[in-house]
Amino acid sequence: MRLDALIFGGGAAGLWLLDRLSRDGHHVLLLEANALGAGQTVASQGIIHGGLKYTLSGLLTKSAKNIREMPTIWRDSLLGRVTPNLSQTRLRSGCCYLWQTDSLSSRAGMIGARFGLQVTPESISIDERPEALKNVYGTVARLPEQVIAPRSFIQDLAFQYRDRILQIDAKRGLEFELDSPGEVSAVKLTSPRDGSTLTLHPRQVIFTAGAGNARLRQMAGLSADVMQRRPLHMVLVRGNLPELNGHCLDGAKTRVTITSEIDAEGRMVWQIGGQIAEEGVNFDSAALTERAKSELSIVLPGIDFRQTEWSTYTIDRAEGATANGGRPESIQVLCAGNVTTGWPTKLVLAPVLAQEIASRASSPYFSASFDTTPFVNWPHPEVALLPWDEAGRQWRKLDPGFANEQRRAA
Ligand SMILES: Cc1cc2nc3c(=O)[nH]c(=O)nc-3n(C[C@H](O)[C@H](O)[C@H](O)COP(=O)(O)OP(=O)(O)OC[C@H]3O[C@@H](n4cnc5c(N)ncnc54)[C@H](O)[C@@H]3O)c2cc1C
Repeated sequence: MRLDALIFGGGAAGLWLLDRLSRDGHHVLLLEANALGAGQTVASQGIIHGGLKYTLSGLLTKSAKNIREMPTIWRDSLLGRVTPNLSQTRLRSGCCYLWQTDSLSSRAGMIGARFGLQVTPESISIDERPEALKNVYGTVARLPEQVIAPRSFIQDLAFQYRDRILQIDAKRGLEFELDSPGEVSAVKLTSPRDGSTLTLHPRQVIFTAGAGNARLRQMAGLSADVMQRRPLHMVLVRGNLPELNGHCLDGAKTRVTITSEIDAEGRMVWQIGGQIAEEGVNFDSAALTERAKSELSIVLPGIDFRQTEWSTYTIDRAEGATANGGRPESIQVLCAGNVTTGWPTKLVLAPVLAQEIASRASSPYFSASFDTTPFVNWPHPEVALLPWDEAGRQWRKLDPGFANEQRRAA
Protein backbone atom coordinates (compact mmCIF):
# COMPACT_ATOMS: atom_id res chain seq x y z
CA MET A 1 0.00 0.00 0.00
CA ARG A 2 1.24 3.49 -0.87
CA LEU A 3 1.25 6.21 1.83
CA ASP A 4 2.31 9.83 2.08
CA ALA A 5 3.90 9.31 5.47
CA LEU A 6 4.56 6.61 8.05
CA ILE A 7 5.20 7.69 11.65
CA PHE A 8 6.98 5.45 14.19
CA GLY A 9 6.18 6.10 17.86
CA GLY A 10 2.96 7.26 19.51
CA GLY A 11 4.08 9.57 22.29
CA ALA A 12 3.27 13.29 22.38
CA ALA A 13 5.42 13.97 19.30
CA GLY A 14 4.05 11.23 17.04
CA LEU A 15 0.39 11.74 17.94
CA TRP A 16 0.48 15.53 17.54
CA LEU A 17 2.14 15.03 14.15
CA LEU A 18 -0.40 12.38 13.15
CA ASP A 19 -3.17 14.88 13.84
CA ARG A 20 -1.42 17.58 11.83
CA LEU A 21 -0.57 15.46 8.77
CA SER A 22 -4.04 13.84 8.75
CA ARG A 23 -5.70 17.25 8.79
CA ASP A 24 -3.39 18.40 5.99
CA GLY A 25 -4.85 15.56 3.88
CA HIS A 26 -1.94 13.10 4.00
CA HIS A 27 -2.46 9.36 3.85
CA VAL A 28 -0.59 8.65 7.06
CA LEU A 29 -0.31 5.79 9.57
CA LEU A 30 1.36 5.67 12.98
CA LEU A 31 3.08 2.48 14.20
CA GLU A 32 3.53 1.85 17.93
CA ALA A 33 5.85 -0.87 19.28
CA ASN A 34 4.72 -0.89 22.93
CA ALA A 35 1.84 1.11 24.41
CA LEU A 36 1.07 4.69 23.34
CA GLY A 37 3.07 7.17 25.41
CA ALA A 38 5.06 4.31 26.95
CA GLY A 39 8.40 6.11 26.80
CA GLN A 40 8.45 9.51 28.43
CA THR A 41 5.05 11.09 27.80
CA VAL A 42 2.82 9.17 30.22
CA ALA A 43 5.58 9.24 32.87
CA SER A 44 6.06 13.02 32.49
CA GLN A 45 4.75 15.66 34.88
CA GLY A 46 2.59 17.33 32.25
CA ILE A 47 3.56 20.94 32.97
CA ILE A 48 2.85 23.30 30.09
CA HIS A 49 5.95 25.40 30.66
CA GLY A 50 5.95 29.03 29.53
CA GLY A 51 9.66 29.66 29.96
CA LEU A 52 10.02 31.07 33.47
CA LYS A 53 12.10 28.07 34.56
CA TYR A 54 14.63 28.95 31.86
CA THR A 55 15.00 32.61 32.84
CA LEU A 56 15.81 32.17 36.51
CA SER A 57 19.50 32.71 35.85
CA GLY A 58 18.50 36.27 34.86
CA LEU A 59 19.03 35.71 31.12
CA LEU A 60 16.49 35.27 28.35
CA THR A 61 17.81 31.90 27.20
CA LYS A 62 16.99 30.42 23.79
CA SER A 63 14.99 27.76 25.63
CA ALA A 64 12.76 30.43 27.17
CA LYS A 65 12.29 32.21 23.84
CA ASN A 66 11.39 28.96 22.09
CA ILE A 67 8.80 27.98 24.65
CA ARG A 68 7.06 31.24 25.58
CA GLU A 69 4.24 30.92 23.00
CA MET A 70 3.36 27.39 24.11
CA PRO A 71 0.89 28.03 26.96
CA THR A 72 -1.46 29.90 24.58
CA ILE A 73 -1.29 27.19 21.89
CA TRP A 74 -2.04 24.46 24.42
CA ARG A 75 -4.75 26.46 26.19
CA ASP A 76 -6.64 26.94 22.91
CA SER A 77 -6.37 23.25 22.05
CA LEU A 78 -7.46 22.22 25.56
CA LEU A 79 -10.51 24.47 25.19
CA GLY A 80 -11.29 22.87 21.80
CA ARG A 81 -10.94 26.25 20.03
CA VAL A 82 -8.21 25.07 17.64
CA THR A 83 -6.92 21.76 16.36
CA PRO A 84 -5.88 19.35 17.65
CA ASN A 85 -9.02 19.38 19.72
CA LEU A 86 -7.89 18.36 23.22
CA SER A 87 -11.15 19.09 25.00
CA GLN A 88 -11.18 15.54 26.45
CA THR A 89 -7.72 15.96 28.00
CA ARG A 90 -7.91 16.33 31.78
CA LEU A 91 -6.14 19.12 33.61
CA ARG A 92 -4.27 18.28 36.78
CA SER A 93 -4.25 21.97 37.57
CA GLY A 94 -4.90 25.35 35.98
CA CYS A 95 -1.70 26.76 37.51
CA CYS A 96 1.57 25.97 39.25
CA TYR A 97 2.79 27.47 42.54
CA LEU A 98 6.31 28.69 43.15
CA TRP A 99 7.86 28.95 46.55
CA GLN A 100 11.23 29.56 48.08
CA THR A 101 12.54 30.98 51.30
CA ASP A 102 13.95 34.23 49.91
CA SER A 103 12.17 37.08 48.13
CA LEU A 104 10.98 34.97 45.24
CA SER A 105 8.11 37.09 43.99
CA SER A 106 10.16 40.17 43.29
CA ARG A 107 12.90 38.27 41.45
CA ALA A 108 10.90 35.76 39.41
CA GLY A 109 8.11 38.22 38.65
CA MET A 110 10.50 40.86 37.45
CA ILE A 111 12.35 38.43 35.21
CA GLY A 112 9.15 37.09 33.66
CA ALA A 113 7.88 40.57 32.79
CA ARG A 114 11.23 41.78 31.48
CA PHE A 115 11.49 38.90 29.04
CA GLY A 116 7.96 39.19 27.71
CA LEU A 117 6.83 35.79 28.92
CA GLN A 118 3.11 35.19 28.49
CA VAL A 119 2.88 33.51 31.87
CA THR A 120 4.49 35.33 34.76
CA PRO A 121 4.16 34.66 38.50
CA GLU A 122 2.06 36.74 40.84
CA SER A 123 2.62 36.58 44.58
CA ILE A 124 -0.41 35.52 46.61
CA SER A 125 -1.60 36.21 50.15
CA ILE A 126 -1.45 33.60 52.93
CA ASP A 127 -5.24 33.07 52.58
CA GLU A 128 -4.90 32.24 48.89
CA ARG A 129 -2.20 29.61 49.40
CA PRO A 130 -3.04 25.98 48.73
CA GLU A 131 -3.15 23.85 51.88
CA ALA A 132 0.20 22.20 51.11
CA LEU A 133 1.98 25.58 51.22
CA LYS A 134 0.28 27.08 54.29
CA ASN A 135 3.40 26.71 56.47
CA VAL A 136 6.00 27.68 53.91
CA TYR A 137 8.21 30.48 55.16
CA GLY A 138 8.55 33.25 52.56
CA THR A 139 6.63 34.25 49.49
CA VAL A 140 4.41 31.95 47.47
CA ALA A 141 3.55 32.89 43.88
CA ARG A 142 0.98 31.58 41.41
CA LEU A 143 2.17 30.92 37.86
CA PRO A 144 -0.57 30.38 35.25
CA GLU A 145 1.18 27.35 33.70
CA GLN A 146 -1.40 24.59 33.24
CA VAL A 147 -0.64 21.00 34.19
CA ILE A 148 -2.25 18.32 32.04
CA ALA A 149 -2.83 14.67 32.92
CA PRO A 150 -0.51 13.23 30.22
CA ARG A 151 -2.27 9.86 30.00
CA SER A 152 -5.60 11.50 29.24
CA PHE A 153 -3.89 13.63 26.55
CA ILE A 154 -2.59 10.47 24.84
CA GLN A 155 -6.05 8.83 25.21
CA ASP A 156 -7.68 11.90 23.70
CA LEU A 157 -5.60 11.83 20.48
CA ALA A 158 -5.54 8.01 20.31
CA PHE A 159 -9.34 7.94 20.37
CA GLN A 160 -9.59 10.50 17.53
CA TYR A 161 -7.14 8.61 15.28
CA ARG A 162 -7.58 4.98 16.36
CA ASP A 163 -8.08 3.69 12.80
CA ARG A 164 -4.68 5.10 11.74
CA ILE A 165 -2.67 3.73 14.68
CA LEU A 166 -1.32 0.18 14.39
CA GLN A 167 0.44 -2.06 16.89
CA ILE A 168 3.71 -3.55 15.67
CA ASP A 169 6.23 -6.02 17.02
CA ALA A 170 9.41 -4.00 16.44
CA LYS A 171 11.70 -6.97 17.18
CA ARG A 172 10.15 -9.74 15.09
CA GLY A 173 7.54 -8.09 12.90
CA LEU A 174 9.31 -5.12 11.30
CA GLU A 175 11.64 -5.00 8.29
CA PHE A 176 12.88 -2.11 6.17
CA GLU A 177 13.73 -2.36 2.49
CA LEU A 178 16.32 0.28 1.60
CA ASP A 179 17.32 1.73 -1.77
CA SER A 180 20.33 3.33 -0.04
CA PRO A 181 21.07 4.50 3.54
CA GLY A 182 18.20 6.75 4.59
CA GLU A 183 16.05 5.85 1.54
CA VAL A 184 13.33 3.48 2.75
CA SER A 185 11.40 2.02 -0.17
CA ALA A 186 9.21 -0.40 1.81
CA VAL A 187 8.27 -1.29 5.38
CA LYS A 188 7.14 -4.88 5.95
CA LEU A 189 5.02 -5.66 8.97
CA THR A 190 3.98 -8.99 10.48
CA SER A 191 0.92 -8.78 12.68
CA PRO A 192 1.64 -9.54 16.37
CA ARG A 193 -1.90 -11.01 16.54
CA ASP A 194 -2.15 -13.53 13.69
CA GLY A 195 1.07 -13.40 11.65
CA SER A 196 -0.61 -11.76 8.64
CA THR A 197 1.64 -9.37 6.71
CA LEU A 198 1.37 -5.85 5.35
CA THR A 199 3.81 -4.04 3.04
CA LEU A 200 3.76 -0.26 3.10
CA HIS A 201 5.43 2.08 0.60
CA PRO A 202 5.60 5.48 2.31
CA ARG A 203 6.96 8.53 0.51
CA GLN A 204 8.24 9.79 3.87
CA VAL A 205 9.21 7.87 7.03
CA ILE A 206 9.20 9.76 10.33
CA PHE A 207 10.80 8.56 13.57
CA THR A 208 9.25 10.11 16.69
CA ALA A 209 9.93 7.09 18.88
CA GLY A 210 11.88 8.87 21.67
CA ALA A 211 14.66 6.52 22.79
CA GLY A 212 13.52 4.07 20.10
CA ASN A 213 14.75 6.47 17.39
CA ALA A 214 18.32 5.17 17.78
CA ARG A 215 17.43 1.59 16.78
CA LEU A 216 15.08 2.73 14.00
CA ARG A 217 17.80 4.92 12.50
CA GLN A 218 20.19 1.96 12.49
CA MET A 219 17.59 -0.11 10.65
CA ALA A 220 17.32 2.70 8.08
CA GLY A 221 21.10 2.70 7.60
CA LEU A 222 21.60 5.94 9.55
CA SER A 223 23.84 6.79 12.49
CA ALA A 224 22.38 6.26 15.97
CA ASP A 225 24.82 8.43 17.90
CA VAL A 226 22.88 11.61 17.10
CA MET A 227 20.76 10.90 20.19
CA GLN A 228 21.45 11.41 23.89
CA ARG A 229 19.71 10.10 26.99
CA ARG A 230 19.59 12.10 30.21
CA PRO A 231 18.46 9.93 33.13
CA LEU A 232 16.12 10.86 35.96
CA HIS A 233 15.17 9.01 39.15
CA MET A 234 11.70 10.22 40.09
CA VAL A 235 9.97 9.84 43.45
CA LEU A 236 6.31 8.93 44.09
CA VAL A 237 4.41 9.43 47.36
CA ARG A 238 0.82 8.37 47.82
CA GLY A 239 -1.67 8.64 50.65
CA ASN A 240 -3.55 11.28 52.53
CA LEU A 241 -1.85 14.30 50.97
CA PRO A 242 -3.11 17.71 49.86
CA GLU A 243 -3.09 18.53 46.15
CA LEU A 244 0.04 20.36 45.02
CA ASN A 245 1.40 21.37 41.61
CA GLY A 246 4.47 23.55 41.58
CA HIS A 247 8.15 24.16 42.00
CA CYS A 248 10.33 24.92 45.01
CA LEU A 249 13.10 27.12 43.65
CA ASP A 250 16.63 27.38 44.90
CA GLY A 251 18.41 30.17 43.05
CA ALA A 252 18.25 29.27 39.34
CA LYS A 253 17.49 25.62 40.12
CA THR A 254 14.25 23.79 40.72
CA ARG A 255 14.84 22.02 44.02
CA VAL A 256 11.69 19.90 43.69
CA THR A 257 8.84 19.93 41.17
CA ILE A 258 5.68 18.28 42.48
CA THR A 259 2.59 17.36 40.48
CA SER A 260 -0.48 15.56 41.86
CA GLU A 261 -3.11 13.18 40.60
CA ILE A 262 -5.71 10.96 42.28
CA ASP A 263 -5.11 7.25 41.62
CA ALA A 264 -7.73 4.59 40.88
CA GLU A 265 -8.13 3.89 44.65
CA GLY A 266 -8.83 7.55 45.41
CA ARG A 267 -5.40 8.23 46.95
CA MET A 268 -3.50 11.40 46.15
CA VAL A 269 -0.20 10.62 44.37
CA TRP A 270 2.63 13.11 44.26
CA GLN A 271 5.12 12.78 41.43
CA ILE A 272 8.39 14.46 42.42
CA GLY A 273 11.02 15.64 39.97
CA GLY A 274 13.43 18.57 39.70
CA GLN A 275 16.94 18.60 41.14
CA ILE A 276 16.18 15.69 43.43
CA ALA A 277 15.45 13.45 40.41
CA GLU A 278 18.55 14.66 38.53
CA GLU A 279 20.75 13.83 41.53
CA GLY A 280 18.67 10.76 42.34
CA VAL A 281 20.31 8.78 39.52
CA ASN A 282 23.28 8.33 41.89
CA PHE A 283 21.12 6.63 44.54
CA ASP A 284 19.24 3.36 44.75
CA SER A 285 15.52 3.48 45.42
CA ALA A 286 15.78 3.10 49.22
CA ALA A 287 18.47 5.79 49.54
CA LEU A 288 16.58 8.19 47.26
CA THR A 289 13.40 7.68 49.28
CA GLU A 290 15.27 8.63 52.48
CA ARG A 291 16.68 11.70 50.76
CA ALA A 292 13.28 12.71 49.43
CA LYS A 293 11.68 12.42 52.87
CA SER A 294 14.20 14.75 54.45
CA GLU A 295 14.11 17.15 51.49
CA LEU A 296 10.30 17.38 51.62
CA SER A 297 10.24 17.92 55.36
CA ILE A 298 12.48 20.98 54.74
CA VAL A 299 10.77 22.45 51.67
CA LEU A 300 7.22 21.66 52.82
CA PRO A 301 7.11 22.20 56.59
CA GLY A 302 3.98 20.95 58.33
CA ILE A 303 2.97 18.26 55.83
CA ASP A 304 2.06 15.05 57.60
CA PHE A 305 3.65 12.11 55.78
CA ARG A 306 2.81 9.52 58.46
CA GLN A 307 0.18 7.69 56.42
CA THR A 308 2.08 7.69 53.14
CA GLU A 309 3.81 5.13 50.93
CA TRP A 310 6.85 5.84 48.79
CA SER A 311 8.23 4.50 45.52
CA THR A 312 10.66 5.60 42.79
CA TYR A 313 11.13 5.06 39.05
CA THR A 314 14.00 5.62 36.66
CA ILE A 315 13.45 7.03 33.20
CA ASP A 316 15.63 8.54 30.49
CA ARG A 317 14.89 11.73 28.63
CA ALA A 318 15.66 10.97 24.95
CA GLU A 319 16.78 13.95 22.88
CA GLY A 320 18.91 14.96 19.94
CA ALA A 321 22.56 14.98 21.05
CA THR A 322 24.18 18.26 22.11
CA ALA A 323 27.90 19.06 22.17
CA ASN A 324 28.05 19.20 25.98
CA GLY A 325 25.38 16.59 26.74
CA GLY A 326 23.07 19.27 28.21
CA ARG A 327 19.42 19.87 27.37
CA PRO A 328 18.87 21.02 23.76
CA GLU A 329 17.44 24.55 23.52
CA SER A 330 14.45 23.40 21.48
CA ILE A 331 13.13 20.64 19.22
CA GLN A 332 15.59 18.66 17.11
CA VAL A 333 14.87 17.48 13.57
CA LEU A 334 17.22 15.54 11.28
CA CYS A 335 16.49 14.75 7.63
CA ALA A 336 18.32 12.21 5.47
CA GLY A 337 16.91 10.68 2.27
CA ASN A 338 13.21 10.13 2.89
CA VAL A 339 13.71 9.68 6.66
CA THR A 340 12.99 12.42 9.21
CA THR A 341 13.92 11.96 12.87
CA GLY A 342 12.47 14.24 15.55
CA TRP A 343 12.68 14.80 19.29
CA PRO A 344 10.47 17.49 20.86
CA THR A 345 12.85 17.85 23.89
CA LYS A 346 9.80 18.84 25.99
CA LEU A 347 6.21 17.63 25.87
CA VAL A 348 5.12 21.24 25.56
CA LEU A 349 7.11 21.60 22.30
CA ALA A 350 5.23 18.79 20.47
CA PRO A 351 3.24 21.39 18.44
CA VAL A 352 6.48 23.06 17.28
CA LEU A 353 7.94 19.74 16.18
CA ALA A 354 4.76 18.83 14.29
CA GLN A 355 4.73 22.23 12.58
CA GLU A 356 8.39 21.91 11.57
CA ILE A 357 7.99 18.39 10.12
CA ALA A 358 4.67 19.21 8.42
CA SER A 359 6.13 22.33 6.82
CA ARG A 360 8.95 20.26 5.26
CA ALA A 361 6.59 17.55 3.93
CA SER A 362 5.62 17.56 0.27
CA SER A 363 1.97 18.14 -0.59
CA PRO A 364 -0.30 15.11 -0.20
CA TYR A 365 0.03 12.81 -3.21
CA PHE A 366 -3.51 11.44 -3.16
CA SER A 367 -6.63 13.50 -3.77
CA ALA A 368 -9.09 10.89 -2.42
CA SER A 369 -9.62 10.72 1.35
CA PHE A 370 -7.68 8.02 3.21
CA ASP A 371 -9.55 4.71 3.39
CA THR A 372 -8.47 2.86 6.54
CA THR A 373 -10.67 -0.22 6.06
CA PRO A 374 -7.64 -2.39 5.04
CA PHE A 375 -6.40 -2.03 8.66
CA VAL A 376 -9.59 -2.86 10.57
CA ASN A 377 -8.33 -6.29 11.57
CA TRP A 378 -4.85 -5.12 12.49
CA PRO A 379 -4.32 -4.78 16.30
CA HIS A 380 -4.35 -1.32 17.83
CA PRO A 381 -2.11 -0.41 20.80
CA GLU A 382 -3.28 0.34 24.34
CA VAL A 383 -2.35 3.52 26.18
CA ALA A 384 0.57 3.10 28.64
CA LEU A 385 -0.15 2.91 32.38
CA LEU A 386 0.84 5.72 34.72
CA PRO A 387 4.01 4.91 36.69
CA TRP A 388 2.02 4.43 39.93
CA ASP A 389 -0.41 1.99 38.29
CA GLU A 390 2.29 -0.31 36.88
CA ALA A 391 2.02 -3.92 38.03
CA GLY A 392 4.67 -5.06 40.52
CA ARG A 393 5.59 -1.59 41.75
CA GLN A 394 7.10 -1.74 45.26
CA TRP A 395 5.86 0.79 47.82
CA ARG A 396 7.65 1.55 51.12
CA LYS A 397 5.97 2.75 54.28
CA LEU A 398 7.68 5.30 56.51
CA ASP A 399 10.27 3.90 58.92
CA PRO A 400 9.25 4.31 62.60
CA GLY A 401 12.01 6.90 63.30
CA PHE A 402 10.76 9.30 60.62
CA ALA A 403 7.15 8.69 61.62
CA ASN A 404 8.03 9.65 65.22
CA GLU A 405 9.72 12.85 64.06
CA GLN A 406 6.61 13.66 62.06
CA ARG A 407 4.39 12.93 65.07
CA ARG A 408 6.44 15.36 67.19
CA ALA A 409 6.28 18.02 64.42
CA ALA A 410 2.51 17.58 63.96
C1 LIG B 1 9.99 12.29 34.31
C2 LIG B 1 9.78 13.25 33.19
C3 LIG B 1 9.03 14.40 33.41
C4 LIG B 1 8.81 15.30 32.36
N1 LIG B 1 8.02 16.38 32.59
C5 LIG B 1 7.76 17.25 31.57
C6 LIG B 1 6.90 18.36 31.79
O1 LIG B 1 6.36 18.55 32.89
N2 LIG B 1 6.66 19.20 30.73
C7 LIG B 1 7.26 19.01 29.51
O2 LIG B 1 7.03 19.82 28.62
N3 LIG B 1 8.09 17.96 29.29
C8 LIG B 1 8.34 17.07 30.28
N4 LIG B 1 9.14 16.00 30.05
C9 LIG B 1 9.69 15.77 28.70
C10 LIG B 1 8.62 15.09 27.84
O3 LIG B 1 8.00 14.05 28.55
C11 LIG B 1 9.24 14.53 26.56
O4 LIG B 1 9.99 15.51 25.90
C12 LIG B 1 8.15 14.05 25.59
O5 LIG B 1 7.16 13.31 26.26
C13 LIG B 1 8.79 13.21 24.49
O6 LIG B 1 7.76 12.74 23.66
P1 LIG B 1 8.08 11.75 22.46
O7 LIG B 1 6.79 11.49 21.77
O8 LIG B 1 9.22 12.25 21.66
O9 LIG B 1 8.65 10.42 23.14
P2 LIG B 1 7.98 9.30 24.06
O10 LIG B 1 6.96 9.85 24.95
O11 LIG B 1 9.16 8.61 24.68
O12 LIG B 1 7.24 8.35 23.03
C14 LIG B 1 7.93 7.48 22.16
C15 LIG B 1 6.96 6.41 21.70
O13 LIG B 1 7.62 5.62 20.70
C16 LIG B 1 7.38 4.25 20.96
N5 LIG B 1 8.43 3.46 20.32
C17 LIG B 1 9.69 3.20 20.78
N6 LIG B 1 10.36 2.45 19.88
C18 LIG B 1 9.54 2.25 18.83
C19 LIG B 1 9.65 1.56 17.58
N7 LIG B 1 10.78 0.92 17.21
N8 LIG B 1 8.60 1.54 16.74
C20 LIG B 1 7.43 2.18 17.08
N9 LIG B 1 7.26 2.83 18.24
C21 LIG B 1 8.30 2.88 19.11
C22 LIG B 1 7.32 4.19 22.49
O14 LIG B 1 6.68 3.02 22.95
C23 LIG B 1 6.55 5.45 22.81
O15 LIG B 1 5.16 5.25 22.74
C24 LIG B 1 9.38 15.08 31.07
C25 LIG B 1 10.17 13.92 30.86
C26 LIG B 1 10.35 13.02 31.89
C27 LIG B 1 11.16 11.79 31.62
